[in-house]
Amino acid sequence: MNSELIESGIKKIRWAMKYMDVLYTLKKELENKKPLKGARIAMSIHLEAKTANLALVLRDMGAEVISTGCNPLSTQDDVAQALSSMGIKVFAKRTHDEKEYFENLHQTLDQHPNLILDDGADLTTILHTQRTNQLKEIMGACEETTTGLKRMRSLEKSGKLSYPVIAVNDAQMKHLFDNRYGTGQSTWDAIMRNTNLLVAGKNVLVCGYGWCGRGIAMRAKGLGANVIISEVDPIKAIEAAMDGFKVMNSLEAVKIADIIITATGNKDVITEEHFKFMKNRVILANAGHFNVEIPFDLLEKLAKSKKEVRDNVVEYEMENNKKFYLLAEGRLVNLAAGDGHPVEIMDMSFSIQLLSLIYLWQNKGKLQNSVLKVPSEIDLKVAEVKLKTLGITIDRLSEDQIKYLNSF
Ligand code: NAD
Ligand code: SAH
Repeated sequence: MNSELIESGIKKIRWAMKYMDVLYTLKKELENKKPLKGARIAMSIHLEAKTANLALVLRDMGAEVISTGCNPLSTQDDVAQALSSMGIKVFAKRTHDEKEYFENLHQTLDQHPNLILDDGADLTTILHTQRTNQLKEIMGACEETTTGLKRMRSLEKSGKLSYPVIAVNDAQMKHLFDNRYGTGQSTWDAIMRNTNLLVAGKNVLVCGYGWCGRGIAMRAKGLGANVIISEVDPIKAIEAAMDGFKVMNSLEAVKIADIIITATGNKDVITEEHFKFMKNRVILANAGHFNVEIPFDLLEKLAKSKKEVRDNVVEYEMENNKKFYLLAEGRLVNLAAGDGHPVEIMDMSFSIQLLSLIYLWQNKGKLQNSVLKVPSEIDLKVAEVKLKTLGITIDRLSEDQIKYLNSF
C-alpha cells in the first residue's frame, strides 16, 4: 500500500464525513444495537469518499463489509487504499480493462456475502448466471439505480429472482434528489472541470427527460446554455416543452448541438446516422448506465484516428475530417471523470441504503423473492432527519385536519 495515496484517501473520506449529517445522525441513534450483527455485506458501488463513509457506518452497525466498484473507471484508488487501511476488505481498482473489473466482483463474491448492495445489478447478475450455488446464502439485496432495477425486474419476470431486492432508487428521498439534483450538478461539474470550456451561449442537447435528464437540463439553463431535449416518451416531451425547453428530434438536434449529453439508460441513443450530422468539435458525454448510450465501440470503429487531448477527453477524427471529443470513454461522466454526486446528496441516498439493509437483515427469511418498495417509514425517517439537520420546521396536520382529509 502507498502511504501518500492512503493519506489523500483519508482526507477525502474525512471531508465527506463532515457533511454527511443524516448518515451520522442515524449511526448515533442505532450503532449501540448493532442491528447488522452477523451480516456480511458485499457492496458494488462507485468506490469514492461518500461510499467509504457508508462502508464504515455499516461496519459500526455490526456488519462485515466487503467493498468493490460498479464501474471500471469510477473507483478512486486513493479512497480504495484508505478504506483498506481502515480494515475493510476492498477488491477494487480504477481500470480500463473490463476483465479486471469483473475479476474484482468475483473476488468480492468469493468472500461469501449474505447481503448485497448493488449499483447496476452486476453482482446480482453474476450470482444468478455464473454462481448459482451461492444464491441460497444471500438474504437479499438493495439496488441503487434505475437501470439496475430494470435488470432486476426482468430477472423477477423470468421467475428466476432468488432473493428479495429493495428498490432503493425508487424511494422518494433517493431519486427525487440524487437522480435529479445530484446528476444535474455533478454532470456539469465533470464536463466543466475536464474541458475548461464555457457553457453559456452553447447549444446543449440532453437526450432523455427522466429524473437525470431533468436535472442536467435545469442546471444547463442556469449556466446560460440554450437547452434542447430529445425524448421518446410523448408525455415527458410535453413536460420538457412546458418547462421551457426546445424539444427536437435528435437527428435534427445534433446538427446544431455544441454539447450532447445522454441520460436515458438505453442503448444506441446516438447512432452512425447521428455521427454523420454532428458539428465539428462537439463535446460528447454520457450520464446514464454503461458506455452504450453513445456507443463507444461504434465510435472507435468509425473514427479514422483518435488521441487523448486532455485527461478523460479523447479526440476522434472522422472520415469527413470532423473532430469529436468524447469524455470518459462514454461512461458516466460524473463518476468516471469526477467525484460523482455532491456529499449531501449521497448522504440521503446512503441513509436510505443503510435503513433498507437493516430492514432486509431484520426480516431475513420473511420477505418475498421479488423487487420490493422501500418501506414508506424509511423514506419518512430520512426526510425527518434531513429536515432537522437543515434546521427547517414544517407545519403538522392537526387531528381534526387528518379526520377532514380522510372523510368523504
Ligand atoms: P428515467 O427512467 O427517469 O429516465 C430515462 C428517460 O430516457 C425516460 O424519460 C425515457 O423515455 C428516455 N429515453 C429512453 N430511450 C430514449 C432515447 N433513445 N432517446 C431519448 N430519450 C430516451 O431514468 P433516470 O432515473 O433518469 O436514469 C437514467 C439513467 O441514468 C439510468 O441508466 C440510471 O441508472 C442512470 N443514473 C445515473 C446517475 C449518475 O450519477 N450519472 C444517477 C442516477 C441514475
Ligand atoms: N454500474 C452502473 C452504475 C450506474 S451509476 C454504471 O457504471 O453504469 C448511477 C448511480 O450512481 C446513481 O443511482 C447514484 O446514486 C450513484 N452515485 C452517484 N454519485 C455517486 C457517488 N459520489 N458515490 C457513490 N454513488 C454515486
